Amino acid sequence: MKLDVTYHKHDVVVVGAGIAGLYAALKTSGEVDTAVISKVYPTRSHSGAAQGGCAASLGNMMEDHWEWHMYDTVRGSDYLGDQDAQALLVRDAVQVMYEMEHLGVPFDRTEEGRIAQRPFGGHFGNFGKSPMKRSCYAADRTGHAQLHALYEQCVKNEVRFYNEFYSLLLIMKGGTCLGLVAWDIIRGGLHVFHAKAVHLATGGYARCWKITSNAMANTGDGLALVMRQGLPLEDMEFVQFHPTGVWKHGMLVSEAARGEGGYLTNDKGERFMKEYAKEKMELAPRDVVSRAVQTEINEGRGIGGQDCVHIDLRHLGKEKILTRLPQVRELALKFLGRDMITDPVPIQPTAHYSMGGIPVNLDTLVLGDSQKGTVPGLYASGECACVSVHGANRLGTNSTLECAVFGRLGGLKMLDYVRQHSGHEDLPADAAEMAREEIEHLLSTAGTKSGVRSADLRTRLQETMSENMAVYRNQGDLEKQVKICQELREQCRQVAIDDGGLCANTDLIEAVELGHMLDYSYVIARCALERTECRGAHWRTDHPGRNDKEWLKHTMAWLEGDHVRLEYKPVVITRFQPEERKY
Ligand SMILES: Cc1cc2nc3c(=O)[nH]c(=O)nc-3n(C[C@H](O)[C@H](O)[C@H](O)COP(=O)(O)OP(=O)(O)OC[C@H]3O[C@@H](n4cnc5c(N)ncnc54)[C@H](O)[C@@H]3O)c2cc1C
Repeated sequence: MKLDVTYHKHDVVVVGAGIAGLYAALKTSGEVDTAVISKVYPTRSHSGAAQGGCAASLGNMMEDHWEWHMYDTVRGSDYLGDQDAQALLVRDAVQVMYEMEHLGVPFDRTEEGRIAQRPFGGHFGNFGKSPMKRSCYAADRTGHAQLHALYEQCVKNEVRFYNEFYSLLLIMKGGTCLGLVAWDIIRGGLHVFHAKAVHLATGGYARCWKITSNAMANTGDGLALVMRQGLPLEDMEFVQFHPTGVWKHGMLVSEAARGEGGYLTNDKGERFMKEYAKEKMELAPRDVVSRAVQTEINEGRGIGGQDCVHIDLRHLGKEKILTRLPQVRELALKFLGRDMITDPVPIQPTAHYSMGGIPVNLDTLVLGDSQKGTVPGLYASGECACVSVHGANRLGTNSTLECAVFGRLGGLKMLDYVRQHSGHEDLPADAAEMAREEIEHLLSTAGTKSGVRSADLRTRLQETMSENMAVYRNQGDLEKQVKICQELREQCRQVAIDDGGLCANTDLIEAVELGHMLDYSYVIARCALERTECRGAHWRTDHPGRNDKEWLKHTMAWLEGDHVRLEYKPVVITRFQPEERKY
């Protein structure tokens, strides 16, 4: 079978319809011809699951300043974030929050009608000294509210949406990005998108863990697309485990639950955070709380000796739980049959957020090396990108903020770029060839009954990643995981599918996604093995302590066939020198 190819031409093509992608598209639409490609319906993007809020030093509830927000972000990142990017994030936050308000995001309000703000882990006043209310929120559905407002604005601006289209391959010529190839999931068929600028906003990628808060779609496709062009990824070893995932399922009990005053308790009913972060208690940064929960579990103080502890909200009262945390309550009711109003709820750490990703500069242009070389026409923002605002550990509510600030900025930068390029450069003749080969090969395996199934390999990957590469890491486990990834990548070559149809073929898409997940998981394991220190979310039990002398640097990784090549680049430090983190 030879698949047909359909051609499209736009000025800007954005891949991903989460907060980052939609904000980028919003800024170019109305000015130049803009398209968004999304493998899920736009409002089903994972941004819609963000619960707790979006940070900005509005100072609506108490005095606040962007410098205080920056200090928290730098410290939260365990000094691995680039401070030029962090300054940009927190300074633009205020303007972007008001812009979102004007776009129609229905934030909760104070009595005077201002945007209400609540406390969140790791955010403080006066350079880490006093409690702070900085998170702007819409009950516990903040991301949902932001996503819908942005989508409506994009529709109003006549953005062309290609919903349920799956991006397979970037089209590059002479080091410049000229578009991409996608598969129409519903109808089948290859589509070439010819563009002056491509913006990747494909979101997080923690689906390679068994216990994860991430949506099914978070399979790191954008990362794989970039790696397959011989381009690097940055700081892949840093993956955040959120301390409060619904036990055994991984869905999130938002940090808003602790922000509103929830307690964490062990089998003895003790608020164990006093042993780990005496001052900040449950509101210490996430990496600190996750390790505390995992240590309680490892040392046998989990509830009934099992791998969970409790989050207890009963003292907040029914009204507060129903108005501020309705979605969190519903999750616990549905998945564990526990009502937070009357019962504590079992939780465990869950793979949540990926700090690393596609390296970009402050203009969101993708970097091609560990110096400052960029890839013309290729941009990235949001969770798939690494501009490095989160360094080794992200603070809660700083991610939807990153998506908004850098998605928006990326849109403005693409607009400049597109205006300077009047025509489309010609595409290479074989633009769709590699994608065609991949899809035709997979379709040809249907019905052969031989080969391995992608679901089996994926389950093995997820289980072993959770076993060997979670909150605590050590050389032996990491070496094991590197080897498992190598074996799985080898076996993946034999993957066969059962469904040979063209329409809505999820079997086909899952096989492609598996290849992507194996590629970046392998890179994560290799980067983690190499970094012999503890920093932020990367905790090596065999290498205690942060080692600034040797490891205050970013990892850059290239996947070259079966080999991962690593280089390092310095961290940008402008204002706050590394200090010890004490909580
Ligand atoms: C449960 C949960 C709660 C969270 N709560 C908060 C919070 O309260 N505050 C906060 O700041 N952060 C929070 N985060 C983190 C934050 O929500 C995410 O980092 C952020 O929303 C990511 O947005 P994004 O625009 O980068 O990508 P996403 O919203 O994940 O969107 C990715 C898009 O890429 C598309 N895509 C991916 N691959 C392809 C492909 N191959 N082809 C075509 N399209 C593709 C998808 O269809 C989707 O539209 C939370 C995360 C989770 C999982």
